[in-house]
Amino acid sequence: MTHEDVLKAAGLAKAELTGGTLAVHSPIDGAEVAKVKETDPVDMAKVIAKAQEAFRAWRQVPAPRRGELVRLMGEELRVSKEALGAVVTLEAGKITSEGLGEVQEMIDICDFAVGLSRQIYGLTIASERPGHRMMETWHPMGPCAVITAFNFPVAVWSWNTALALACGDPVIWKPSEKTPLTALATMKIMERALKRFGDAPEGLVQLVIGGPEVGEALVTSKDVPIVSATGSTRMGGIVGPKVAARFGRPILELGGNNAMIVAPSADLDMAVRAIVFSAVGTAGQRCTSLRRLIVHDSIKEDLVGKLTKAYASLPIGDPRKEGVLVGPLIDHASRDRMQSALEKAKSEGGSVHGGKVVAEGVPQGGAYVAPAIAEMPEQTETVKTETFAPILYVLGYDTIDEAIRLHNDVPQGLSSCIFTLNMREAETFLSATGSDCGIANVNIGPSGAEIGGAFGGEKETGGGRESGSDAWKAYMRRQTNTVNYSAELPLAQGVKFDF
Ligand code: NAD
Repeated sequence: MTHEDVLKAAGLAKAELTGGTLAVHSPIDGAEVAKVKETDPVDMAKVIAKAQEAFRAWRQVPAPRRGELVRLMGEELRVSKEALGAVVTLEAGKITSEGLGEVQEMIDICDFAVGLSRQIYGLTIASERPGHRMMETWHPMGPCAVITAFNFPVAVWSWNTALALACGDPVIWKPSEKTPLTALATMKIMERALKRFGDAPEGLVQLVIGGPEVGEALVTSKDVPIVSATGSTRMGGIVGPKVAARFGRPILELGGNNAMIVAPSADLDMAVRAIVFSAVGTAGQRCTSLRRLIVHDSIKEDLVGKLTKAYASLPIGDPRKEGVLVGPLIDHASRDRMQSALEKAKSEGGSVHGGKVVAEGVPQGGAYVAPAIAEMPEQTETVKTETFAPILYVLGYDTIDEAIRLHNDVPQGLSSCIFTLNMREAETFLSATGSDCGIANVNIGPSGAEIGGAFGGEKETGGGRESGSDAWKAYMRRQTNTVNYSAELPLAQGVKFDF
């Protein structure tokens, strides 16, 4: 299929793809595939006012009925899975099965949120006063801005949107300026769901297109109480304080520097499979990609040998082609950042396998690279920095305490794992003295989370949680209620105030 055919199959009309100011390139071959219209920052006030208007109606719709819209969204996504997956591949360069997997993740969170819409439970609490009852009620918050990164161009929107809609909040989406087409295609799907639903308020789900200047209004407006922002730590460092300064609620999902500890007892064949998928999948452009391997000295040489052999056999190329496992990086700037990180790693004493630019057997115009393994003498500044590309730094360790210390000694805290058959090591890794990340796994890699768990990380990853478990609470306001059904008015803590 040509790029044009893919966009057409996703319902995008020529008029939407031409005449704008934002040029969209496919990382597959660097071709310009569209020039989309950007939202004028001046219009953001109207967008936000429309979302506020929608909020006043949507908050009154019973939650299970709100869930019905999410159910329809899931149904429409099922129908359009292949078409949308193909746009993800075209615009983000993911291999076909990962493009489809991303849409499956959208479907999964819809299923979750439909169930949630009938399970927005609050506690009842024993009151210390006779004839009194206490409880918690969860109310909708208001418009939720969803600012997303290029590497999960649609799944992250759905994690937020499925929950926000069930919780009673309208959504304003600002996708990455690198991936507006997946957003436009997703909105077509959403519009079909809204039409079938029938009486949803206008402006319930809106899309704005552009860069930080468009995002700025969402970040600074008091009428947008929730700002869920996914992207680099640099972006979070700007957005987080601005939202906090106006007492908004930020949900920050920022960079990771995810590690795996491989202990002497590990099943090495399993570890190798997990390492290759986590470090190389999505060309190392997942927030949860494996970037640091902390291996026991006794097995390091053996494991690195196995990995370099596996890396040498990885099919690199056109992500649409069957069998290809490593697609392109998002753009040439990203490829250059990878190359300079490898040079820096070498200057710090690292020994690098692979990592070269690939120009043969791949579509011309794309930024293709061979994934790299860099054996490092210590955890240097380069190792502590997230480079959004397939570089796997390898460090040795002697004791498990040393491994956990190295593991936690980076600014980021998203995902982590240990491969071991030793129960003490596994449990220590998951304990309060173990991994300091939001996600910690045993005998599976750090990437490829399921939607059932809360997703997010600590430290410079931003502390936000999205997706499953009780992440929905971030999209609602909690109200504590005390009801007095007695004929007395006792004060708490035994305070007397008689007059
Ligand atoms: P990016 O920070 O360049 O951009 C992310 C989004 O933020 C874009 O929509 C961008 O327009 C917007 N943005 C940037 N500056 C802004 C500002 N000042 N005000 C408002 N909006 C602003 O990130 P990217 O290159 O698209 O994505 C890669 C990064 O995202 C990596 O660091 C990766 O780890 C991270 N990421 C994190 C998660 C997670 O859940 N923790 C998930 C995916 C990606």
